[in-house]
Amino acid sequence: MMPCPLRYDHLREILEQAIAAGYTFHTCAGYATRRPEDDLTAVLRHDIDIVPERAPAMAELEADLGIAATYFFRLHANEYNALSHENLAIMRDIVAMGHEVGLHAEPLDLDASCGVDPATSVRVGVQTLSDLLGVPVLGAASHNDITPDNNLDFFRATPPADLGLAYEAYDEHALNLFGTGWYVTDGYFWRWRAFDRGRLTDNQDCLCKHIAAARTPLYCLFHPHLWYGRHPHRIRY
Ligand SMILES: [Zn+2]
Ligand SMILES: [Zn+2]
Repeated sequence: MMPCPLRYDHLREILEQAIAAGYTFHTCAGYATRRPEDDLTAVLRHDIDIVPERAPAMAELEADLGIAATYFFRLHANEYNALSHENLAIMRDIVAMGHEVGLHAEPLDLDASCGVDPATSVRVGVQTLSDLLGVPVLGAASHNDITPDNNLDFFRATPPADLGLAYEAYDEHALNLFGTGWYVTDGYFWRWRAFDRGRLTDNQDCLCKHIAAARTPLYCLFHPHLWYGRHPHRIRY
């Protein structure tokens, strides 16, 4: 069977399907601070690993459907400057659409490459984003790069509150969603992965199948650089 395409028209179908099924959507911060008890809950999260220019199309599509999601941006990517005119405007536009922006953090990688104290880099990153976006930044999500999961080691050992944060995207206390729900993510060599209460399953279904199965709470991670309009090599349309 052909896998579902990572195309915007399918994303719209997925989200409309979820709305019709009765899912309530929350940002990570909303879920962490309110602990909602809906019958069907979905939290949409997007990690901006390499191409911020791909984020607005996804953000607009969601906002069009009345859905607020959480977008995590890196401050130390070699691939992009988050604080450029263009990218800062993208982040501010995303906030203006009603979404949440958080820090996609890589503190141990930055320590290894540059010698910057990990807690310092996270605190400075959160404060910088908060000041430049004009809204409090409440969350961070650990980034995996060439050194898988090592940044998570830092967050596991450091309470979010010590860093000026309300939550970290994989924490077991404040957000506490990865270990308690279904975590469904795109972008692993072109197939989906699903974790059931923190454990990797062999399920490779598109998110639409998880919604059809009424799984809850659903914690969904998409990487906007993998999604496209008509063809993966055509960036905007
Ligand atoms: Zn990442
Ligand atoms: Zn699908």
